[in-house]
Amino acid sequence: MTVPILMYHDIVDGPEVRDEFEVPLARFCEHLDALAAAGWKTAPLSSLRTTGADARTVFLTFDDGFTSFGKMAVPALSARGFHATVFVPSGWVGKPAAWVETGGATPTVMSWPQLRGLDPDQVEVGGHGHSHVALDRLTDDELRAELTGGRRVLAEGIGRPPTLLAYPFGYHTAKVRRAAAEAGYSDACEVGYGLQPSPGARRYALRRLIVRPGMDGPALVRVLEEGQRGQLRQAVGSLLRPAWRVVRQWREPPVRLVPLPSGPDLSR
Ligand SMILES: [Zn+2]
Repeated sequence: MTVPILMYHDIVDGPEVRDEFEVPLARFCEHLDALAAAGWKTAPLSSLRTTGADARTVFLTFDDGFTSFGKMAVPALSARGFHATVFVPSGWVGKPAAWVETGGATPTVMSWPQLRGLDPDQVEVGGHGHSHVALDRLTDDELRAELTGGRRVLAEGIGRPPTLLAYPFGYHTAKVRRAAAEAGYSDACEVGYGLQPSPGARRYALRRLIVRPGMDGPALVRVLEEGQRGQLRQAVGSLLRPAWRVVRQWREPPVRLVPLPSGPDLSR
């Protein structure tokens, strides 16, 4: 049975969005309320193989760990008893996300104190590489530094080792998937423009659905329900894929690696 794993990035205060990766807070709350009203519940993504087979379990994920996640998404999730997984690039913790080019203010990645302040029963923190670069472009040594090194930095900064990974920009190859397993990650997420085919499938390429700002609550619920009936490809697959292709052309900057620290500065 298919399992929906939703993918969000930045939540914004007002109604305006600068790109497809921002969702206004009001729209995000509308999504959560529509899911709850339709009988969907959430679970931590790390429990995918145990709870993912329950009908109407949806997994919420957020890439990049922007401060908007702690400020806006977490209170909205808490108010509804919902869980989420946030994927944080360890080299950018507490810093402006220089890889994001939206033409406006650069979002900032949450700090170590902010990450440690998240309730682990509600929010699990996963890895997102160290430098937020496309992992399929790296040498073996660079790949190890990004995944094994980045996971160590996150473990030291947060106080527990992350078990889940999301590939920056979604790109992965067999070599990248092997490196993710060797780094100690039990599962890794891609951007799959669709629903995860079953709880146990594709452990290092879990398929997620990008939730766009133009999708309202009823449309989101419809997508999940059509997906469970096997109709997702016809319904939205063709709408989702082209925008992500555009991203590889303009959103992904040249590879610029962030040096691994000997240990993270935990005050920042
Ligand atoms: Zn990212």
